[in-house]
Parts: sequence; C-alpha cells; structure tokens
Amino acid sequence: VNCSRFETLLTDYMDQVLDMRAHSAAEEHVRRCSRCADLEKQVTALRSELAASPAFDPPPGLIDSIMTGTTGPTPPQRSFWHDLVWPTIKPFLTGHYAFGAVMFFVFLVLMVNVFGPPVWAWDLNSLRPAAMMDRVDRVNSEVMKRWALFNSAKNGFLGELRLLKQDLYGRLDYYMISLLFEQGEKNPPEEAAEEPEQPSQ
Ligand SMILES: [Zn+2]
Repeated sequence: VNCSRFETLLTDYMDQVLDMRAHSAAEEHVRRCSRCADLEKQVTALRSELAASPAFDPPPGLIDSIMTGTTGPTPPQRSFWHDLVWPTIKPFLTGHYAFGAVMFFVFLVLMVNVFGPPVWAWDLNSLRPAAMMDRVDRVNSEVMKRWALFNSAKNGFLGELRLLKQDLYGRLDYYMISLLFEQGEKNPPEEAAEEPEQPSQ
C-alpha cells in the first residue's frame, strides 16, 4: 500500500469496513508513514468536529431546488394511470366527442325506427338471430327499392337530357341551313358573277 492508495482507503479504514488483509496493510502503512498518520489524525479531528456540530434539518424544498438547479426539474411521477390510461381516455372527454356520441346514438335510433320495429317494441324475440336476419332482409329490400327508384329517376333525367340535346342539335341544324339559304337568296353565289369573265382569259 502506497500513499495514494492509502488515501483512497482512508475512510473505509477508519470505519473498519475493509477486509482483514487490506486493513492490516493500511495499518502497517500508517505506522511507517508519518504523512499518512497526520492525515488520519486530521480526518479524525474533522469527523469529531462535524459530529459535535448541531444537526439541522434542511429547509423544505432545498433538495428539490438543488435538483432543479443541477439536473433540471424532477420528472412527474410515473404510473400506469398517468402514462397509459389517462392519455388514452382524455381526448374522448371533450364536448365534441360527447356530441358525436349522442348524434350517433340518435342516428342509430332513427335508423332502427325507419327500418326496424320501434325500440320500445323490442323484446327477446326481436333479438333472436332469425328476427335479426328478417330485419336485415327488410332493410336490404328497402335499400334496393330506394336504389331502383333512384335509378329510374336517373334514367328519366338522362333521357330528358338526350332529348334536349337532340332537340338542340336539330334546332342548330335548322338555323344554320336556313341561314345558308337566306345568304344564298340575298347574295347570289360569287361563281355566278365570275363565270362570265372566264371566256375572256
Ligand atoms: Zn503514506
């Protein structure tokens, strides 16, 4: 054991927590080395001084402010609730979501009222698979009926549109032809005026 090694071992040596070989080695060094013996005396004196000084409680918040000043604010306490559950349900606790949920429920009730038996008439029978399939069939046929109505209306509209287009083209044809004839009646074709000049060439 040299001096620097003894310095690192000093407090453990004084607390007598070193294993036996290290302790006897340190003991032997301090017996032979006056400088390390002085050091041991100084530390012993310092320790007794500290032990004699009155104990005091740190003011509340001192530890926190030291932590904040050195390593930044202490992170909020982590827990299953704060890390997972609360962030998950928080977005749903808004007025928008509540309104949306109510509107969906109203929509559902309206749909059932339109296509199915009224809600107050539901019983265990209407929850049977057969009754459910019956209701689905009814909704299905209702939708098909509406789709057919829509299609026939659409076809009627398209037919009207086709007629209108043909009518428009017919009118356009008539207009242009009559325009040509009018033109022909007002000014005779230029070829007729030019023709007499041709023999002179
Ligand atoms: Zn020494």
